[in-house]
Amino acid sequence: MNIADASLRVLIVEDCDDDAVLLRRELKRAGFEDLTWAQVQTADDFKTILQTQPWDVVLSDYKLPHLNAPAALDLLKQSGQDIPFIVVSGTVGEATAVALMRAGACDYVMKDNLSRLGEAVRRELRDAQDRRERQQAENDLERTRELLKLAIEGSGIGLWNWHLPSGTVWVNDRCIQMLDYSPTTLDFTRYETWVPLIHPDDQEKHLAALAAHLENLTPTFDSEIRLRHREGHWVWVLNRGKVVEWDADDKPQLLSGTLTDITERKQAEEERHQAAAQILYNSLHDALTGLPNRNFLKQRLELAIQRSRRYPQAQFAVLFLDLDHFKVINDSLGHQAGDDILVAVANTLGGMVRSSDMAARLGGDEFVLLLEEVDSFQVVEVVAERLLEELQKPFLVQGREVFLNASLGIVTSLAQYQDPTEPLRDADIAMYRAKARGRGCFVIFDDSMRQQMLDRLQLEQDLRRAIDHQELVLHYQPILRLATGQVCGFEVLVRWHHPQRGLLLPIEFIPIAEETGLIVPLDRWVLKTGLQQLALWQRHYPYLAHLTLSFNVSIQDLWRDDLIPYLQSILAQSALSPCCLNLEITESTLIQNIQAMALRLQQLRDLGLSITIDDFGTGYSSLSYLHQLPVSALKIDRTFVTTMETHGPSANIVETLITLSNRLGLEAVAEGVETDHQRKQLHGLGCELAQGHWFTHPLSAPDAERWLVEAEADLNAK
Ligand code: C2E
Ligand code: CA
Ligand code: CA
Repeated sequence: MNIADASLRVLIVEDCDDDAVLLRRELKRAGFEDLTWAQVQTADDFKTILQTQPWDVVLSDYKLPHLNAPAALDLLKQSGQDIPFIVVSGTVGEATAVALMRAGACDYVMKDNLSRLGEAVRRELRDAQDRRERQQAENDLERTRELLKLAIEGSGIGLWNWHLPSGTVWVNDRCIQMLDYSPTTLDFTRYETWVPLIHPDDQEKHLAALAAHLENLTPTFDSEIRLRHREGHWVWVLNRGKVVEWDADDKPQLLSGTLTDITERKQAEEERHQAAAQILYNSLHDALTGLPNRNFLKQRLELAIQRSRRYPQAQFAVLFLDLDHFKVINDSLGHQAGDDILVAVANTLGGMVRSSDMAARLGGDEFVLLLEEVDSFQVVEVVAERLLEELQKPFLVQGREVFLNASLGIVTSLAQYQDPTEPLRDADIAMYRAKARGRGCFVIFDDSMRQQMLDRLQLEQDLRRAIDHQELVLHYQPILRLATGQVCGFEVLVRWHHPQRGLLLPIEFIPIAEETGLIVPLDRWVLKTGLQQLALWQRHYPYLAHLTLSFNVSIQDLWRDDLIPYLQSILAQSALSPCCLNLEITESTLIQNIQAMALRLQQLRDLGLSITIDDFGTGYSSLSYLHQLPVSALKIDRTFVTTMETHGPSANIVETLITLSNRLGLEAVAEGVETDHQRKQLHGLGCELAQGHWFTHPLSAPDAERWLVEAEADLNAK
């Protein structure tokens, strides 16, 4: 109700109607023109009307026949309503008036001085209004407090107050529960109790934040610290506070704040950190072997280049390593075994480097050793040799021994590199040289190699066209039976009539063909062309029906599923008997997976053709496995044969190999027979077949044909 309002609801406790009229008149006069009123004389009426209607003020006579002011006041209080109660009387003395006021009456107006009434009513209305508003505010505050309390409890926030001069701390239960203590285990009302609970590493940070705030350098005090849980582990909390009281000298007295458990957030942060660190790690390491990857290596190389330019003693070397025939191992043993081998190689490399060096995997079967602080490049050669030696030791993979070999290309910082890609490029080039030099060795880069590399790339391009452009030709080298001198067949050897370079021997292009996979179409072309030639000869000279052709087949081709259908189709086209066809497979590539290889060779044997193990004696002779392979002949490597006379051990090896093949029921073929003495010696040792310059160099098809006819004539003449 507005106090300035002209309306008023007045309840009059009065037995004298005239007096009541006077009161109303006076109120009207005082401005309460819109008057709602009632007059009661008994306690019952008073109670009833209080309950049934709202009132702004009660005006009560002091003494009525059936009621008096103190009793009426009591009833009003009992009703619980806050309605101003003003006594209007003519009879009351001062002591009574005081007693009435104590009992809760608001004011006292004498009937003979009614002009005061209006003002008294107005003031009481105002007071009542104030009271109501205050009450409302208090209620609101109470409700807010209640809500806040619920909110704090629900949120699990701990609250604390800290009285600085006394060191007394007040905390709510939550602060203590956070650490799983009960309030009685420690004296949590002392600041000193809390300090040792802070993680030693966080103490300093905590104290610094506190000091800064107390010196008024920060608006609030804020620190994330770890507190010791009752069980010993650490709870991450956010401790926030603010000075809320100062003394007369502006010195902080009371600090008030909150404690929030942020362990989960910290853990999430930690996980995010770890994830980020993991991503970084992954971006710099090879997933399979765990070695640093190309990225990481490049970063290190960049630093190494910078250092080597600044400090003459900080020279470095890059050893680029590529496993020989890894693809073959992978194809024959399976990818799991391939992976196992790469990991084993990575371990070998990792075990060889000093802390200042780095072993990295570039991908595939390519690895790099970065040697730093190299004081002499002789040391690099020693490392290279040791590395090759280590890698030649058999690796145990899936319970079987696997033999590896690697080719190494080396560059040194003497080349004054600018960019990390340069030493890698050159080392790669040197590595290719090592492969070309017969693998299993290392080559140190020199500038001329770059040109050679370009030449090689050119050759690779040319080779792609050579097959289609009919640039390949076949030469035939006779294979003779030593006992009779009879020609049993020919080995087919490919040559390349390069349009610019002239005649190229296999050594110049077969390795490239193998690396690029061109070896497969090349071998197939050789097979097809050779068989066509044989078919032609047999047609012209029917007495040559027994003649066989030996083809060199790359291991890559051997594992291809379409090899057998291909052989079937070309045999059918040439209308030759399969027994005319002999496949030569190099020993070193055969032994990786003997069981699978045995099966594969058996499939070939089932076609009706025969198989020879080529270059026998150079592989890591798994003699014990040999009997499992369905082969018909062993071809003794020509390095042993050509050195038989001059080099004692060679003669012994040849003898052993011949004995071995006899024992296994296989034919021994000697290649590279260059002298009559060798021929006789081999015959004496029991070697059945031979080929070599002593008989003839490999010949073109027409020359071979002529040679054959002459040889036949000679034989017949004897
Ligand atoms: P290989 O299978 O060991 O072939 C024998 C090599 O010895 C041939 O070299 C041959 O010319 C050479 N030779 C023959 N008699 C003598 C001799 O008395 N003394 C000496 N020092 N050498 C002799 P070529 O033709 O240069 O072939 C080299 C290698 O190239 C072959 O070695 C073979 O592994 C490979 N090759 C040749 N043709 C093909 C082919 O069509 N396909 C595949 N995959 N490889 C081939
Ligand atoms: Ca051969
Ligand atoms: Ca050979």
